[in-house]
Parts: sequence; C-alpha cells; structure tokens
Amino acid sequence: MFSTKLRLEGLSPFLFMRHQLIQNGISIKTWFKELSFSSREGREVIDLTDQVLETAKQSGIKNGLLVVQLPHATAALMLNEDEEGLKQDILNKLDDLVPAQGGYQHDRIDDNAHAHLKSALVGSSVVLPIVDSQIVRGTWQSFLVVEQDGPRRRRLTIFVMGE
Ligand code: ZN
Repeated sequence: MFSTKLRLEGLSPFLFMRHQLIQNGISIKTWFKELSFSSREGREVIDLTDQVLETAKQSGIKNGLLVVQLPHATAALMLNEDEEGLKQDILNKLDDLVPAQGGYQHDRIDDNAHAHLKSALVGSSVVLPIVDSQIVRGTWQSFLVVEQDGPRRRRLTIFVMGE
C-alpha cells in the first residue's frame, strides 16, 4: 500500500486561467485551475482537500462559489471523512451495490461498467459557498476522489467565482 502522501507526490497544476468581469459596477472574478494526479490502485479513495483549499486560496476570491469537478466517468467525487476505516467502508459498500461482474451491457464493449455505474451513483462535482475567505463545509467533509478504474492519470478542475 502507498501512503496518501506518496500518492499525491505526482500532483501538479498544469493549467490555470483567471478572468475579471465588470458588470453594473460590480467586479466579479473567476478563477480556473486544473490539477493532475495519478491513482495507484484499481479502487481507492484519495484525499485532495489540501490541494483544493490551496487552489481556492490562490484565487484571492473572498466571497463566492467554489465548484470542484472530477471530469471522468469511472471515478467519483464526494465530501466525506478522510478516515481509513470509512474509506474502506465506502469502497466495500460500492462493491456491494455494484459488483464488478454484473452481466452489464457496457461490458460487451469495455470491461468497466461497474466503475461507470459507481461514478453515476456518487456524482462527480461539488459546489460550496466561500464566505469571508473560508470554504463553508463541515468539519469532517474532506474532498475525496473515489477511484474505480485505476491506476491512471486523473484531473480535478477547480473553478471559483466571486469577489
Ligand atoms: Zn467504459
């Protein structure tokens, strides 16, 4: 097993854009950044909270909306606790709900229908308010990527809009 720290060493920002819109005298900034990282297991839960918080801070936007999106169909994004037992529970429960072998139609052309279905069930984006430079979230709500078809390169996009 790789530690979470080791897993994230490959994480690097490779694209970001910043815009400023002025409408009706109100200055609205937008900030977009794409992070790239590698999963190391077929199925695993990866905590990217530090990277998301750092990127949101870089935006300089104090009040607005944060949109975090995982642009993939065979992995998922959720807000939940970064605790080893719970992360294994999440993987186990998803396997219970969607077994790897289920006679799925998609497996006739690919071999990862279960990963698509788990991604569809969990979702792939979250939207949170930013108030007074703080992302409004629960104490135990970490940004967790749920890999279901690894190992592979993955991207995470972070969009912030506000003032
Ligand atoms: Zn597929």
